[in-house]
Amino acid sequence: MAQKFAKRSEDYSKWYNELVYRADLAEHSDVRGCMVIKPYGYAIWEKMRDILDAKFKETGHSNAYFPLFIPKSYLSKEASHVDGFAKECAVVTHYRLKNAEDGSGVVVDPEAKLEEELIVRPTSETIIWNSYKNWIQSYRDLPILINQWANVVRWEMRTRLFLRTAEFLWQEGHTAHATRQEAIAEAEQMLEVYADFAENYMAMPVVKGLKSPSERFAGADETYCIEAMMQDGKALQAGTSHFLGQNFAKAFDVKFTDKEGKQDFVWATSWGVSTRLMGALIMTHSDDEGLVLPPALAPIQVAIVPIYKSQEDLDAISLKVAELNGKLRVKGISVKFDDDDQKRPGWKFAEYEAKGVPVRVAIGPRDLAEGKAEVARRDTKEKSSVSWDGIEDYIENLLEEIQTSLFERAAKFREENIRKVDSYDEFKKVIEQEGGFILAHWDGTEETEEKVKADTQATIRCIPLEMPKEEGKCMVTGKPSAGRVIFAKAY
Ligand code: AMP
Repeated sequence: MAQKFAKRSEDYSKWYNELVYRADLAEHSDVRGCMVIKPYGYAIWEKMRDILDAKFKETGHSNAYFPLFIPKSYLSKEASHVDGFAKECAVVTHYRLKNAEDGSGVVVDPEAKLEEELIVRPTSETIIWNSYKNWIQSYRDLPILINQWANVVRWEMRTRLFLRTAEFLWQEGHTAHATRQEAIAEAEQMLEVYADFAENYMAMPVVKGLKSPSERFAGADETYCIEAMMQDGKALQAGTSHFLGQNFAKAFDVKFTDKEGKQDFVWATSWGVSTRLMGALIMTHSDDEGLVLPPALAPIQVAIVPIYKSQEDLDAISLKVAELNGKLRVKGISVKFDDDDQKRPGWKFAEYEAKGVPVRVAIGPRDLAEGKAEVARRDTKEKSSVSWDGIEDYIENLLEEIQTSLFERAAKFREENIRKVDSYDEFKKVIEQEGGFILAHWDGTEETEEKVKADTQATIRCIPLEMPKEEGKCMVTGKPSAGRVIFAKAY
């Protein structure tokens, strides 16, 4: 009997966890909060990584690599940075184990205590700025535009596969500039890169905005972010880009001499996206049958399933498929011909559906005789009988159509779930009953933000950058507000 899976509408969180397993993306490990990313999940991450990496290089950045361990003293040099990260740091105190005297196994060798304890990097600003100190003397050494692909560790208390793990994979850009304006322009440019990636590859609409002071990155003067709406109406912070001012330059004493011979501290940015994007992808498009992938990120874009009884049928189908395969490959479309005779076509259909393969082609002897094939799209589950003549163009167009329509579907859902609210009573009702994003006026204070969070669990997701500015009165205190901000419950 087919296994019963949770439905999105009944238990979203269970549906999500089951989907990650069902699509063979990742699994929990025995190490608390850490996951194993399985080959299919990793293949999707690799696609994301390759596309982003190319975009970083197009915008002038180079990759480099810095150590996993950060001396404890570095972390404490920037006061708000250490405050923000201290609670979730893994610390290395010893460098050796030894056999226990009672034979019970190995224990930490107390003699092998590190002189200075090391932090497993939760983010690399401090170790990188400690290097930049040696790299930067004059304006001629600037800008430095570096990105690192790495793993980081944040000892998160409540973890979820991909969305929030104790160890995660990410990229972190770290740039150094001669002027404030240039650093701000860099932080804004990278926000655009992230938004473009989210919308045009992940087919996930995002709101670009600024974080409120209390949600800012620890050590940043300004945090830009992209926020996406998941299918349950909750928000997910999908990427951040920080304008770090001169905070890290001051902490690590990084000065440069400008053209006039004056000395000043260097300006900085950092920006990152992580394997959380995998969770965002899942929760933007998928359904009760499994994963739905936008073609731009699908490791397999087309799965071809032969339907046959005899070897003779299979040989004839294989010949025809080889021809189509060649034509699709020329177009840069990735294809899998699944002629595994241990599995029945129905099983394969369900499998490709669960894995979110955008297009499935089925071909049997009758199709062959009629010069046709059955083409099914994963997103709408529509099937069409398509003539072999020009089928490669049909599939190419269909993939583009799926990419666009996934974005449109998600954008429509988001539009339907953004609401303007003016009174706090209404706010409480809407956030409880409808969820989604709420555009409301806020007086700009941390106290009000805290109160809303305590009352409703909703937080300020961002101060949107691209919405018309409209002055008003704070929904909680009635004090003046410079513009509406987005409140939502968030992952
Ligand atoms: P931050 O350095 O805090 O600005 O985070 C950089 C990126 O990593 C953001 O896109 C976050 O959404 C993501 N991120 C932060 N914490 C985690 C976590 N525990 N697991 C996965 N991704 C995370």
